[in-house]
Amino acid sequence: MKAESTNLNTPEGFLCPGCKQFRIKLSLEQLLYKRVIRCPYCGLELGLDKSTCAEALDKLQNLYVATERVIDINSKNS
Ligand SMILES: [Zn+2]
Repeated sequence: MKAESTNLNTPEGFLCPGCKQFRIKLSLEQLLYKRVIRCPYCGLELGLDKSTCAEALDKLQNLYVATERVIDINSKNS
């Protein structure tokens, strides 16, 4: 078993299942807070089924919150 491509964090995004032409890139914020994303190439709307990857999203959200705190602390210190 190879663990490549199907990672939420891949910078390349994921291939649109509709047109298979466009790699949809999601920012962490989009991944966490958007329910539906739209392929700009074919217009396919994709629901983000968060129930299937709730644990991963939970970890990502923690990371995101932590990152925001770091930024906040940095801005106060400067
Ligand atoms: Zn598409």
